[in-house]
This record gives sequence, C-alpha cells and structure tokens, in this order.
Amino acid sequence: MGRSGQHAAVIGASIAGLCAARVLSDFYDRVTLYERDELPAEPANRAAVPQGRHVHLLMARGAAELEAHFPGLLDDMVAAGVPILVNRPDCIHFGAAGHVLGTSDDLREEFTAYVPSRPHLEWQLRRRVTAIGNVDIVRAGVTEPMFDAARQRVTGLRLDTGDEAQADLVVDTAGRGTRLPVWLQQWGFDRPPEASVDVGISYASYLLRIPDGLVIEKVVVAGAHRQQPLGLGMLCYEDGTWNLTTFGVAKVEPPHDFAGMCELADEIVPPHLAAAIRKAEPIGDIALHKYPTSRWRRYHKLDRFPAGILPFGDAVASYNPTFGQGMTMASLQAGHLRRALEAPGDDLAATFNKAAAKSTYPVWTMNAVADLVMHRATGAMPWWYRPVGELFDQFLGAAETDPVLAEWFLRRFSLLDSLYMVPSMALVARTIKHNMGLFMAQRRTLRVPRWRETAS
Ligand SMILES: Cc1cc2nc3c(=O)[nH]c(=O)nc-3n(C[C@H](O)[C@H](O)[C@H](O)COP(=O)(O)OP(=O)(O)OC[C@H]3O[C@@H](n4cnc5c(N)ncnc54)[C@H](O)[C@@H]3O)c2cc1C
Repeated sequence: MGRSGQHAAVIGASIAGLCAARVLSDFYDRVTLYERDELPAEPANRAAVPQGRHVHLLMARGAAELEAHFPGLLDDMVAAGVPILVNRPDCIHFGAAGHVLGTSDDLREEFTAYVPSRPHLEWQLRRRVTAIGNVDIVRAGVTEPMFDAARQRVTGLRLDTGDEAQADLVVDTAGRGTRLPVWLQQWGFDRPPEASVDVGISYASYLLRIPDGLVIEKVVVAGAHRQQPLGLGMLCYEDGTWNLTTFGVAKVEPPHDFAGMCELADEIVPPHLAAAIRKAEPIGDIALHKYPTSRWRRYHKLDRFPAGILPFGDAVASYNPTFGQGMTMASLQAGHLRRALEAPGDDLAATFNKAAAKSTYPVWTMNAVADLVMHRATGAMPWWYRPVGELFDQFLGAAETDPVLAEWFLRRFSLLDSLYMVPSMALVARTIKHNMGLFMAQRRTLRVPRWRETAS
C-alpha cells in the first residue's frame, strides 16, 4: 500500500463522500465525514439532496464500480427488492434524441443494471461506511479548511460547531455548491478554469403507485430532442413504487400537475405506458427542481494547487442530470483516488486531478455536443460539435433498426466498455449503408406507380 496518514477528513456524506471515505479508510488511521444535513437511519430523502426525489438512474458501470468498492452491495440491494435491469425490450423503453433504441430481440449481449431509489442507494452505502471501524460520520457543517500559508497546505477543517479538526488530507465532496474555488483564491491560488453549458433544465416528479401487471418494463426513458424539449423518465423502485419525472430543457417548463404529466406521456411514450400512468395513484406532493448549468471545474489545468486537499464528485463536474451519469462518475473517481494514493510520488492532487479529468473529458464532451446541438443549450461551442452532433443523430437513426449499432450505443451510454462515444470506421460505414438502404427503400415506395398500387 502507498501513502498513508493519520486523519483524512471528508466534506459531505453523500454518494461521492461515501465513496471517497471507503477508499481513504484503507490508507488513513482515521477517516471522518462531516455532514451538515441530518442523515436518516432508514432509506429516506434528505433536505440537502433535493435531487433524490427525482429519477436517479444508476448506470451499469456505476453498479459494477460500487460493487468493487463495497463487495456484496448488489446482492443486498436485490435482496431488498431493488429491480434488476437487462437491456431487453421488455425491460427498458429507451428513447434518446428522438430515436427509440433497443426494440429488437436481436441484441446480442445482455448487460445488467440495478434500479435502486436514490435514498435506498445512499443508505446502502452509508450503512457500509458506518460499519468500517476507522470511519466516523459527524453531524457538522464545514465553514472552511485551515490553510498553513508557510507550508502552502491545508491542515484541517473549521466546523460550524466552533470546533477545529486537524487532518492530513481533506476531500471536498460538498457537491455543486463547493466553495473550493473561493478558498483557493483566498489562499493566493488561481480559481480553476470552468467549462459550462447552460442547459436550463427543470424537473417535476411524483412518486406513483401503478396497479400490478400494467407495466413490465423497469425503466422508461424518453429524452428530449430537437422537436420536443420535454422528456420523461420513470423507474420502478425497490418497494414497488414508481418515480415519474418529467423535465424540460432550454428553460421549457415541464407540466406541474399530474394531469399535465399524463398528457405529456400520451405524446412521448408508447400507449401502454401512457395508459398505465393514467391509472396510477400519485403518492405525496409533486417535487420540483431546477438545474440551470452543467459545470466542469478544471482543476487539472492549474499550475499551482495546495497540498492536503482534493475536489471530488459533483464538486469537480456536474453533468446534465437527464443523462444519469453523476453517481457513476463519482464511483469512477473512487478508483482514481485509490490508484493516486497507491502511486509513488507526493503530488497526490495532481495525480488525482489528472485522472479525474481523463474520465471527465469524453463524458463532458459528448454531453456538451448533445446539449448544444440537439437540446438548444447555450455555451461555448467548438466548430466540430455541430458536424459530430449531426453524425450522431444519423447514427442513432440507424440504431433504431440495427441492433448492432443500438447495442454499441447502449453500452457506451451506460458508461461500460469505453467512455468515448467514437464509433469505429466499420460502424460508421455500417451506419451509412443502413441509412442509405432505408433511404432507397423509401424512394422505391414513393415511386410505386399508381396502377400498381390499385392492382395490388
Ligand atoms: C435533478 C438531478 C437528477 C440527477 N439524476 C441523476 C441520475 O439519474 N443518475 C446519476 O448518476 N446522477 C444523477 N444526478 C447527479 C447525482 O445526484 C450526483 O452526481 C451525486 O449525488 C453525487 O454528488 P456528490 O456526492 O458529489 O454531491 P451531493 O449529492 O450534492 O452531496 C453533497 C453533500 O455535501 C454536504 N455538504 C455540502 N456542503 C457542506 C458543508 N459545508 N459541510 C458539511 N456538509 C456539506 C451536503 O449536505 C450533501 O450531503 C442528478 C442530479 C440532479 C440535480
């Protein structure tokens, strides 16, 4: 084992904080997570994680990564009733950018994903972390890190209880609202350069009870697209309830009542799913959430960075939530943290920030292409985004009826295999051939002489 120290402190005990603590517990004598929010003993929504009341998809890659950090997690989730998802048409209805994929029974390989509610997943991770002997979770807000200017390093944390905690390493998993850029500036460092995309997303969600037997799918996704700025996601959770989220992109508001959601479902999902939603009974109140901007704080670009602190999770990058990637990306960062702690050399932050940037780049870029080219988002757009977006639209069009292309996309969308959505030349050729075939068939149909139509 590489580096070690006496005490590591983590700001925030959400998904990223729990993943970080799990890794740190193998390298430090003590690990303390400081969380300002009340942490429920049972799976339950939390005030500081308002997104937990909306559809939260754990990607297949995220499930595998979390299982590697927390062995036995997936079996425990299944035992608790968490539905298993395979990429079969009877399990998932998946609409991306206006194309419905995975409808063919010819998908060759299956991959498995899991559909825990967000509160359930966080609770499963929390109870595992709490059970680690050298980890504590303390209910306290962090006001700021302590910084030793002479050593140019963070030495611990000040808490809103008035206490101070010394630490060899602080990991900032405070989420999108991280104050690290401000603290860096106060300590005489540059703020990280930021990439941002104004996606203007609004969420409106209900928990539903759907009468048994009406829906066999476990996951329903109808993403927004050029002609339709509204989308819908629906997941079946471990207790048999359904989370129905409707959303709008580019500042278009989704319906704010159940009747409106039913009308939207009529338009954008197959009739049997829309009919099931109409027969559902909403439980509790509607939950609303706004997500204006995706943001990547590019710490790896900084020449100078203080020792003793690391940004992690949404504090580094928060992605368009309708693509369902944030938790999986946090689980990948846990792997980067482990490898950085094991690596020789003493610039932990540089090693970690570089590795995190490497996995962020392809996912961030594909999201930015989709949002800026297809979802009317605004932000800096290199010239090549538009042609890549148009080509990808062609690809998805072909993937509707070509299971090989569909499977390639679904595996990458789930962040399996590779984080890069760059098809090989063979797949590009297959796309062109497929779409040319469709085009020619369409032309032939249009050219059928009237006498032949009447004769047949
Ligand atoms: C609407 C929405 C939908 C989403 N859907 C998905 C999805 O389908 N799939 C997916 O993978 N991801 C999704 N995400 C992203 C996902 O929620 C995050 O990536 C994930 O929660 C990891 O975030 P985090 O742990 O870094 O931060 P957060 O979950 O934001 O947690 C930050 C924690 O830090 C604590 N904290 C903050 N400041 C302090 C402080 N000063 N002192 C002490 N504690 C502090 C907070 O109380 C909180 O507990 C969605 C996000 C949104 C907004």
